[in-house]
Amino acid sequence: MVSLVGVNASGHEGWIRFYCIICHKKMLVGNEPIYYCPKCAQTRGAYFCLADYKKVKGKCPFCDTELQLYL
Ligand SMILES: [Zn+2]
Ligand SMILES: [Zn+2]
Repeated sequence: MVSLVGVNASGHEGWIRFYCIICHKKMLVGNEPIYYCPKCAQTRGAYFCLADYKKVKGKCPFCDTELQLYL
């Protein structure tokens, strides 16, 4: 019986993930901070990585709403 199970079993993609709308980086929830616009996240997928969150100064570039941290 194999007792060692890999932490990241390949093929397991059950995590919620988003793509940064600016740099298209893949982001995993729980892995890193993910910011989103409460107005544009649903309609246009306005999610932001930390680097781009800083670049847009915490405001949505589409509607100027303050970005929220996705929990
Ligand atoms: Zn980004
Ligand atoms: Zn927005």
